[in-house]
Amino acid sequence: MSEAVAETVAERFGELYAAAPDGVWAAPGRVNLIGEHTDYNDGFVMPFALPHTAVAAVARREDGVLRLHSADIDGPVVELAVDALVPASDKGWTAYPAGVVWALREAGHAVTGADIHLASTVPPGAGLSSSAALEVVTALALNDLFALGLEGPQLARLCRRAENAYVGAPVGIMDQTASACCEPGHALFLDTRDLSQRQIPFDLAAEGMRLLVVDTRVEHSHSEGEYGRRRAGCEKGAALLGVPALRDVPYEGLDAALDRLGDDEEVRRLVRHVVTEDERVERVVSLLEAGDTRAIGPVLAEGHASLRDDFRISCPELDLVVDTALSAGALGARMTGGGFGGSAIVLAEEADVAAVTKAVQEAFVAAGLTAPRVFEAVPSAGARRLG
Ligand code: ADP
Ligand code: MG
Repeated sequence: MSEAVAETVAERFGELYAAAPDGVWAAPGRVNLIGEHTDYNDGFVMPFALPHTAVAAVARREDGVLRLHSADIDGPVVELAVDALVPASDKGWTAYPAGVVWALREAGHAVTGADIHLASTVPPGAGLSSSAALEVVTALALNDLFALGLEGPQLARLCRRAENAYVGAPVGIMDQTASACCEPGHALFLDTRDLSQRQIPFDLAAEGMRLLVVDTRVEHSHSEGEYGRRRAGCEKGAALLGVPALRDVPYEGLDAALDRLGDDEEVRRLVRHVVTEDERVERVVSLLEAGDTRAIGPVLAEGHASLRDDFRISCPELDLVVDTALSAGALGARMTGGGFGGSAIVLAEEADVAAVTKAVQEAFVAAGLTAPRVFEAVPSAGARRLG
């Protein structure tokens, strides 16, 4: 399958640039199993890679020219000069790959130009990190072609820099690390403070379970402002508690911490979510490492309740997915990603997948909503060279 994709992308490269690429690379989107809104609180996250990838055919250039083309965007080849890339100057899709070139050069790596054609099966804007897939596939290709010798975590950091500084999106380190470092049949336990990581066995098919992604296809327009408010509220909570980040509030000390916050109900709720969410990530890690995979279901459902009631970033569509899936026999379900739309994940026995899917789809029809896109998420490989 990936060979056929690699061939198609390489062929199109040949048509666009009248030469063969030097190679073809792939980088996946991701889903976060648990650990939501913990990354900017120095906490824990646990993403795994999707089978959906961004695939890039790339040829090295020595003349300072960067040419970019996406099969998924209706437009011509965009030509830029690598020494004239300016952060925050580009509002279009080319900012992602150009930002990676900029970040590599800023870090002192001699990237002297490239021709890039890419195509992605990661749906954009569904909370599945199509942007990180684009960045990481670019970074990995350039790392190989210019023999930079960078490892996955270093590439992830440079991609994050590209997205923060060049694209101008204040994202954490999770998406890029997941795309660069995940392994098939595993979830990635990542400490966003010290960036230590551990591969956690998560081979659902082998245990007769499935994980569904339900993309609600809604995005509520106030999401960006609300994200900023949550972030600021978390920082306020840490400041009031006298800790560098909410990660430093121990779970055992949560009640005492909440008492100290007095009657600032909004900050109390944010703090409670972040501290309990870090504990849920640790619980899921313990359960998976003990081989007790089914027992993570209720932890996912608890996580959703916390995002809905304490962090307050769910929405009717996401709640409908979660409530319907659980009523139809799913082991667990929760919203994933930034909130106010995007996707939910559902963990179910293989035998229950059809019934759960049908129930969710019927519930959306009954509520007069656009049918959600439902697909299975097999924990897949991180970024790699295809050919
Ligand atoms: P997410 O990462 O959750 O999918 P983002 O808003 O962070 O959402 O990134 C989506 C953006 O990434 C798109 O608006 C587009 O600019 C870029 N992008 C994603 N996939 C592609 C693609 N196949 N071709 C070109 N640009 C893409
Ligand atoms: Mg993104």
